[in-house]
Order: sequence, then C-alpha cells, then structure tokens
Amino acid sequence: MVVSFRWLPSGGSLANGCLSARRPLSGLRKVRYCPASCPRIKRCRESLPLVPCRVPEDARPPRGVAVLSADQLTGVDESHLVEVPGGHRLCPAVAGDFAALQRDAAAAGFDLRIASGFRSFERQRAIWNAKAGGVRTVHDDRGRPLDMARLAPGEQLRAILRFSALPGASRHHWGTDLDVYDAAAVAADYRVQLTPGEVADDGVFGPLHRWLDARMAAGRSRGFYRPYGVDRGGVAPERWHLSHAGSARDCESRMGGRLLRDCWRRHLAPDGLLLRGEIEAELEMLVARYVTVPPDWCPAR
Ligand SMILES: [Zn+2]
Repeated sequence: MVVSFRWLPSGGSLANGCLSARRPLSGLRKVRYCPASCPRIKRCRESLPLVPCRVPEDARPPRGVAVLSADQLTGVDESHLVEVPGGHRLCPAVAGDFAALQRDAAAAGFDLRIASGFRSFERQRAIWNAKAGGVRTVHDDRGRPLDMARLAPGEQLRAILRFSALPGASRHHWGTDLDVYDAAAVAADYRVQLTPGEVADDGVFGPLHRWLDARMAAGRSRGFYRPYGVDRGGVAPERWHLSHAGSARDCESRMGGRLLRDCWRRHLAPDGLLLRGEIEAELEMLVARYVTVPPDWCPAR
C-alpha cells in the first residue's frame, strides 16, 4: 500500500479526498492517507506533501513599514502606495528593496520587471465575478479550460481559488507582493502570460527564476520570497509571485474571516459577490487553505 501524508486543518477530516472542517480552524495536523484508495485525491491535485524550511534571514521588518488599516489590507484604500517604474504601485519599503533587487538582477544580465503589483479590491472583485459568472475562463492545474457548469458551487469555488484570490484577500492588495518577469529574455512586443511553462527551468523566464532561487537560498534576495513556491494544497504554485517577507508578515497575521466579513459588509452590495453564500458558509476553512501561508515556511529554501 502506498501511504503518503497531507496536512489537515485541526478539526477537519478527509472526505472523499477533499479537506473539510466542521468548526473553526486553529492550525494544521499531519495525517496519513492512501492515495490508491481515494481516486478523488489525484483528481483534485490538492494533496502534495509539505516541506518545512526556514524563513529568509533577511526577512526582518524594514524600518518605516506602516501598519496597514483594515481598508488598506483589503485593497479598498490605496493611500499606502507609491508608484514605481512601469506604472505599478507598491508600499514604499517594498519599492526600495525591489529597486535594489532590480539592480542586482541587472548586474547578472536580467531586466527584472513587474507584471502586476498592487491590485485593488474592485479589480479583484471583477476578476472573481467574471470567473464565477462564466465570463472568464477558469483553468485546471494543467491549463485546460474547466466546464464550470458541470461543477457544484463548492467545486466552482475551489477551482477559482486555486488561481484567484477572494476580493479582499489577495496579497496584491497589500503592496508587498508582485509578479515578475525578465524583459531581457523576450522581444519588446512579447505578451507576458505568467504560465507555469514560462517560469519552468526550461521556460523563457527559467534563468531569472533560477537566479532568484539562488539569491533566496543565500539570504540575498532583499527580503523577497515565494509564498506560492510549492503546492500546499491551496493556491497553485506561482513561481512568478514574490512577496516582501518583512513587510507582508504583519498583513499575513491580521488576515482572517472576520476582517473579510467586515470588509464585505461595508463595501459590497448584497449581490456584489458571486458564490458569496458558499464562501461565507466555510470562510474560515477557505482562509486557512487559500489565504494563510504558514509563518515557518519558505518554499524557496
Ligand atoms: Zn501574484
């Protein structure tokens, strides 16, 4: 019998190969399961083992990092941001360290640029509703379009969350996280897609990401790390997504169901968020699985 491990929220259980929880979650526990006896596990592709590692050594909170308000944390208030080259916006401390990382990259022959920096609550809401409403394609882990009409609401929810955050829960709201690419590796008219193929070792941006891996491993990444570097059963791996650890730590610790409920109560019309009923019914579980990144994790190291 093949036995593997997966992480299960405290109070949760394995039901048909998918996580479920019946009471508020306080942490994760490791459980054994047999993949061969549970075909849905493979189909869900949500059961890869976790590999603990250390937090980046240069992840100390930088001087001058402001504590964000609830509206800033959820992307409603944009007053904590500064504009950086390319028309993107970041927190001031993050912008400074990213400029330094760009200089490091340039010295190594890369043109490190931002594909996406700050994203507002309204923008995230538009993305969410387009996917939940069938206007925008939702893909599976292999990049194939999903037929959302054939999925139950709970399955639709998980399919979207694999690649898109709940409005108010995106790390891009904080100004601490950004998606990057190497402009030196492509023609000026190249359209960056941010696909797994682009950032694979043999992809067009593979050399940049190998260089970033080495910098992170050496503690010389100016505080940036990859919160979605490996598959922990929630958000799909996103090698292109960097986070400024020292700046994001406080935001991570304050993100939760209560903050989101309060945000939605104040900023959403009654019909402003599709699948809201399903979301609110299991919000704590969704936050634990798709929003929270364990504090002692650093996938790149
Ligand atoms: Zn991102």
